[in-house]
Amino acid sequence: MSQRPDQQKASLKGRPLAVALALLSCAHGPTGTSEPPSPLTSPEPHVEPDLVGVVHVVKRGETLYRIAKSYGIPPRELLDVNGLRDPRQLEVGMEIFVPGATRTREPAPLPPGSQPEQQVAEPKPAPLLPVRPPAGAKEARLRWPLQGVLYSRYGPRQGRRHDGIDIAAPEGTGIGAAATGTVVYAGEQSGYGSIVILRHEGGLLTLYAHASRLLVRHGDRVGAGQPIAKVGRSGRTTGPHLHFEVREGTRPRNPLSYLP
Ligand SMILES: [Zn+2]
Repeated sequence: MSQRPDQQKASLKGRPLAVALALLSCAHGPTGTSEPPSPLTSPEPHVEPDLVGVVHVVKRGETLYRIAKSYGIPPRELLDVNGLRDPRQLEVGMEIFVPGATRTREPAPLPPGSQPEQQVAEPKPAPLLPVRPPAGAKEARLRWPLQGVLYSRYGPRQGRRHDGIDIAAPEGTGIGAAATGTVVYAGEQSGYGSIVILRHEGGLLTLYAHASRLLVRHGDRVGAGQPIAKVGRSGRTTGPHLHFEVREGTRPRNPLSYLP
């Protein structure tokens, strides 16, 4: 049982990216805690796409149409991806997933005095998505989604960004939710193949890519460890593996900082 370096216990929240990346130089080997993957083996050349989308927090005065327009996607697609039937279901403070976007955008403000028919509603007394600041250190906030071979880490790789970690495992291996959460996306994305995105308490997102099968649907509540997908090779891959990302809002984080 090796001692964990102090750096691993430090929270990355609010630190410049450079500091976060500097922490990567310390070894994040298996620590003997539950379900560690095997150590790194030879890295494979494996090009991952960049961002798959962003989470947009709905603000007062916005409409679904204006949000969709500001991101350049059809309003219908925004509705479908978020499991909404009606633009009026949008509420201030609601987090919606915008597929394909690389950064959050601010819809143009409404002209003063205008009365849009589909302006978003004020939130109900009980907020749909309570967000509380993360309590204390972030370590081990998540559990390993599967057992496998960790063969690619977070951070720049061959001059490209790599926003997650890659865990190789036989096709069909079960992928478990890294924490209790809600499915905000389950579907296909170019490059990523079949993916699931979960939202957890505090606004944390986890993303599971290249699945052969998805076992959950948009809006499902899942418990920690609950099977959500099967390992596959969908999208752009060199073999069956799980590409696993952790994001705080739109910002990719090093998953190893959250895992035991
Ligand atoms: Zn990857």
